Amino acid sequence: MADLNYLGRRIRHARTQAGLTLAQLGAEVGIAPSQLSLIENGHREPRLTALNAIASRLGVTVSELIEPTPPSRRDALEVELEAAQSTQAYRELGLPEVRPPRTVPDDVLTALVGLHRELERRNRLAIATPEEARRANTRQRLHMQQRDDYLPEIEELAEKDVSDAGHDTGALTHRTVGLMAERLGLEIVHVDDIPHSARCVLDLENGRIYTPLASIPGGHGLRSLALQAMAHLRLGHGEPKDYGDFLRQRQEASYYAAACLLPRAAATAFLIRARDEHDIAIEDLRDAFGVTHEAAALRFSNLATSQLGIPLHVLRVAGDGAIVKAYENDGLPLPVDATGATEGQTVCREWSARQAFARRFRTTEYYQYTDTPAGTFFEATQTGTTGADEFAITVGVPYKESRWFRGRESTIRTVSRCPDLSCCRRPDAEVAARWGGRAWVSPRVHTHTFSPLPQGTYPGVDDGELYAFLEAHRGDAHPEG
Ligand SMILES: [Zn+2]
Repeated sequence: MADLNYLGRRIRHARTQAGLTLAQLGAEVGIAPSQLSLIENGHREPRLTALNAIASRLGVTVSELIEPTPPSRRDALEVELEAAQSTQAYRELGLPEVRPPRTVPDDVLTALVGLHRELERRNRLAIATPEEARRANTRQRLHMQQRDDYLPEIEELAEKDVSDAGHDTGALTHRTVGLMAERLGLEIVHVDDIPHSARCVLDLENGRIYTPLASIPGGHGLRSLALQAMAHLRLGHGEPKDYGDFLRQRQEASYYAAACLLPRAAATAFLIRARDEHDIAIEDLRDAFGVTHEAAALRFSNLATSQLGIPLHVLRVAGDGAIVKAYENDGLPLPVDATGATEGQTVCREWSARQAFARRFRTTEYYQYTDTPAGTFFEATQTGTTGADEFAITVGVPYKESRWFRGRESTIRTVSRCPDLSCCRRPDAEVAARWGGRAWVSPRVHTHTFSPLPQGTYPGVDDGELYAFLEAHRGDAHPEG
């Protein structure tokens, strides 16, 4: 319907530009003025022959007429007002639908549309609760599970972009990432005043990607950030409609960046060689492509099932055992809350992620077999720290797939009965009786627990701070490259 609406408006716009009345144009192209009026109002679709005749009489092309955008600012306002008045939220107000005649000045229309936008923004704000965010996060995780964590369209796009920039083998260099940006008309600028609520900022007007100064020279983080910014352009992302849309965009952007840093063909070839030697190890994938352990584990997840036929689970678990990020398509029983969300839930103490924290030597991966009610899994975990926080990255597979992995000879085997509370959540009755009421503890606040701060257009981002940053850098003549 929107397209017919635009088509009608474009015809009317071209007709008034040509100084013709409905009757005049109708007579020349052999359509009754009443029919032409229905077409201009978006109520009737013209036949192709009629469309050709109208276009040639008005001196425009058919493709100009069928372009799905409003022909003028006035039309854009009218279309937006119509759309706003047809929403459930507006209908609930019981107010009349108005169709402002052409005699209504543009600023009246601008004010009306502005009020509708604000109404919509406030409605969005009201539903952007942490609970809704958790639900959206869960929907996104299940959506990716259905696709085996694999997005072929983005793989192809990344493969093409990387090869167009002249990269064919090995780790993607900063220089190649810079070339890829250049091909999009963008320049990567490192600054020390990125808004606190942002990781990186894309300035579309001046063609710049602002990223923070490198804290670790040569770290993969900056390449990844710049690639994620480029992804938003390459994937045609606009302002997110809601939290779910925001999450989808963010996941697609990270996917694109990962697919550039570890291109499908090269990474798959690497993994197939390792599989044939029964020596798949995330640490090797990490080192071969110069990325973090987490990036390598997440990338392995994209390729494991789709390219090697291996189902798996990937977890990022914080030092206290809480899940920061989780994916599975191998049936591992992830802990979930009432909404189905897994972020912030504590994993079983018997799982590799938590057992690994107890090790004193952590320079290599830790391997173990974990028996669960859903079967036995082989798991490899690498631990690390960021600032004061510990984390563990685990990649696990069902028992029968362990034969492809380094560490499969591990003799460590634990038994997890979670979600059965008696497994590791409920203390031994005797011990509980001894300590009940005889201790007090001050709990640590879960800062990593997923909770969005819906402030601006992008959840958690402060628009005021963001725009002040862009203003401050607008005049940069020779930004540091
Ligand atoms: Zn347990």
